[in-house]
Amino acid sequence: MSTFVEMFIVSIDVIIIFQIIYLSNSYGKENNVMKYMNEIINLAKQNEERMISLRRQIHRCPEVAYHEYETAKVIRAELEHLNIRYKECGTGTIADIGPASGKLVALRADIDALPITEETDFEFASCNPGYMHACGHDCHTAMLLNTAAILSHFQDHLPGPVRLIFQPAEEGGGGARGIISAGAVENVSSIFCLHMRPGMPSGVFATKPGLIHASSDGFLVRIHGRKSHGANPEKGVDAILIAAHTVLALQEIISREISAHDNAVLSIGKINGGQARNIVCEEVTLDCTLRTLSEEKRQYIRQRINDIVTGTATMYRGSAEIEYVQNYCTCRNDETETDFSVRLAEELFADTPVTILKNASMGGEDFGFYQQLVPGTKLYIGSGCQEGLHTSTFRVDESGLYRGAALLAAIGINRYV
Ligand SMILES: [Zn+2]
Ligand SMILES: [Zn+2]
Repeated sequence: MSTFVEMFIVSIDVIIIFQIIYLSNSYGKENNVMKYMNEIINLAKQNEERMISLRRQIHRCPEVAYHEYETAKVIRAELEHLNIRYKECGTGTIADIGPASGKLVALRADIDALPITEETDFEFASCNPGYMHACGHDCHTAMLLNTAAILSHFQDHLPGPVRLIFQPAEEGGGGARGIISAGAVENVSSIFCLHMRPGMPSGVFATKPGLIHASSDGFLVRIHGRKSHGANPEKGVDAILIAAHTVLALQEIISREISAHDNAVLSIGKINGGQARNIVCEEVTLDCTLRTLSEEKRQYIRQRINDIVTGTATMYRGSAEIEYVQNYCTCRNDETETDFSVRLAEELFADTPVTILKNASMGGEDFGFYQQLVPGTKLYIGSGCQEGLHTSTFRVDESGLYRGAALLAAIGINRYV
């Protein structure tokens, strides 16, 4: 055999050997990943009963923004039970699992309830009159506690640390800001959260890349006039009249100054003022909300609100001021993190594709504050029921919750493999 032919045969052999090594490696790797996935689902299922019992315990005791004392106790007791170290931030809790160094992925659950009177007949219905977990934050908290249990099982095998953020005061209190200033996103490379979504089958996921929530500004307009007898209005300044003009003029921002191709909402949900039919009103307050899909439009409308409120009051001899009581920026899902979490969810639960939503919600969400600092994605999980968020009859089909816990755990384990 010539040297050339020998060399040719040897190099063919080398290629075949390399191919065998490559194929066996990739086969082994794929097998490992799948095994991990199955183990995650099995653990989520094993913890399901405990998770549902924790969810019901939290549901029974709803607490509003910054008053989540009992809820925090439940969270911390469970973390202690799992031997997971944590840090307290008011009623919020930050827990780290896994190695001290490496790329850190954060998972966030909001923990607060709403000032709504529950109208369900569950045996675990609210025991705090006037308050209710009507946005599913009890489920978010319980799912993340199940995730904590799964992650603690894998803690010696995690590629990097996973941070669990149990955040207070999502409902209007902007709790994300406080817990961020307490260090929640320090060293974090990416962040994810799950939120219940009515009208979708239980445990089915949905999300979208890019904008997923409008900005949400809550503001109070205080209009000042001067009291007088109703028979002598010329001696006073009628705050009700100013309020009437202001309400109409504010609506004209949306109808006359915003393009039909753009979206913004300005709603005045509450008016207070006046003492009696024969007294000219001295003060009126308007409680309003503004939703926009871009920071540019948001700043423009905020400026116009200011012009109109102060200008209208001056025109009718009164005065007015505006107080912003809620300032939530938009929520924008990172394309890479969204793509990663969608592919992972579809690998984990191959029977159900993730729904990619067409439109952003005009509802507010303070997860956007994290996303301003680190790339992240908010996903939805179907509640399996039709009752809407923030309604007194809101309910959840608990059978899909383990899937949410499994997805969060899979994200924590796989994001930086
Ligand atoms: Zn809500
Ligand atoms: Zn919510």
